[in-house]
Amino acid sequence: MKASLVRLKSQPMYKSEKCHLESCSNDDPEEEPPGKRSISDDLEEEPPGKRTTTRYRFFGDIPDAVWNDWKWQFRNRITRVERLAQFIPLSTKEQAQLRLVTMRFPLAVTPYYLSLINPYDPDDPIRKQAIPSTMEMTMGSMGVEDPLDEKKDTVVPGLVHRYPDRVLLVLTDICPVLCRHCTRKREWRNGGWVRSPAEVEAMLDYISRHKAVRDVIISGGDPLTLSTRHLEDLISRIREIKHVEIIRIGTRFPVVLPQRIDNELCSMLAKYGPIWLNTHFNHVREITPEAAEACDRLLRSGVPVNNQSVLLRGINDSIEAQTELCHGLLKIKVRPYYLFQCDEVQGTEHLRTPVEVGIKIIEGMRGHTSGLAIPTFVIDLPQGGGKVPLQPDYILAQTEGELVLRNYEGRIFHYRNPTKLACPELPAEVLCPAGSATASLPQENRVPIRVRRSSKCG
Ligand code: SF4
Repeated sequence: MKASLVRLKSQPMYKSEKCHLESCSNDDPEEEPPGKRSISDDLEEEPPGKRTTTRYRFFGDIPDAVWNDWKWQFRNRITRVERLAQFIPLSTKEQAQLRLVTMRFPLAVTPYYLSLINPYDPDDPIRKQAIPSTMEMTMGSMGVEDPLDEKKDTVVPGLVHRYPDRVLLVLTDICPVLCRHCTRKREWRNGGWVRSPAEVEAMLDYISRHKAVRDVIISGGDPLTLSTRHLEDLISRIREIKHVEIIRIGTRFPVVLPQRIDNELCSMLAKYGPIWLNTHFNHVREITPEAAEACDRLLRSGVPVNNQSVLLRGINDSIEAQTELCHGLLKIKVRPYYLFQCDEVQGTEHLRTPVEVGIKIIEGMRGHTSGLAIPTFVIDLPQGGGKVPLQPDYILAQTEGELVLRNYEGRIFHYRNPTKLACPELPAEVLCPAGSATASLPQENRVPIRVRRSSKCG
């Protein structure tokens, strides 16, 4: 399977690929630009009509055809702090600190994703996801390496079987961008592996022998790191297993390297449906024209796209940020599916938020936007306990026959809870009785509910 990785070809080297540390690094903090500057401050040379990215500042000599070649992007990922300092002002001391961080938690970012960062804003939401922070080390003892205890449920190498009807295939630990909040950060030190053909055979054999498995999730690392041909070898084999109903692919390529979602890949996926794709946008600024085109190509190939974002401190931990993100996703026809509480992974504590923040965000969205725009906020429980959805508490009180509910405006409503016995006696129209559960509520908050007899009743 090693051969399936992006093949290195001899290609011309562009000026922006060469090390020009002297001209770009900023060893003297005194010389750093004061305060936050807008990306557009540095983009005088950007062609008119183009949106603001630092592409034309840093990669101006790269022709469009090369820039849009995902293999070029992948080969030219920024993986060393010295190279990073060519794009983001880092003092000598900061570089030394980040080198230490990357010895434990490596760095990788595609030129495309890097170009979305405002280099002068330390709080840039994309920078915080991709660029290492010293807090990964200073708070590095908090949390655990494998919070979901995936090792416990690994039944053959690379195959996690936790729920009866689903299995997870982890094909590689390689990703185009190493996200600082990644749950599988523990894998990064293992130096880039891809499952061997024998391991893949063992996975397929396991799925074939377990008839309850109807849903196969291909994840990673990022499985789209593999070539389309090798992905097809695997997906076509999974499709031959009669009891597998759906295949899901978990990938961040539409966000961090959307050029990977090319026609060749989409045509291949279209042959083996139903295939669902779950991706991982965390901020509205990631929804670029390139990302939108990638999602559109998938959708036109019959591959529904859902989004699983992670709630991250200082990145998307506000009602406004989540609402903008989810509205942006709906505009590109991607469904906001899950909002995950950030797992307690070592090296991510600085990005984690109290659970109450997620609940407040959902509460702040409910009623103010359509339900389609509201993801399910979940905690993935430690020790393999699975996902638990968390909701604001809308039930204020409950008896056998009645619920007292509050709505998104804080108004209180009584809701008669139908029982089997009550149905035949219901008059055509009744006033909901005030039960003991409501007795303690102020009179002005009691809202009588008219209930009509339903033809389905009884
Ligand atoms: S793409 Fe996913 S698996 Fe890869 S580093 Fe990011 S969060 Fe982790």
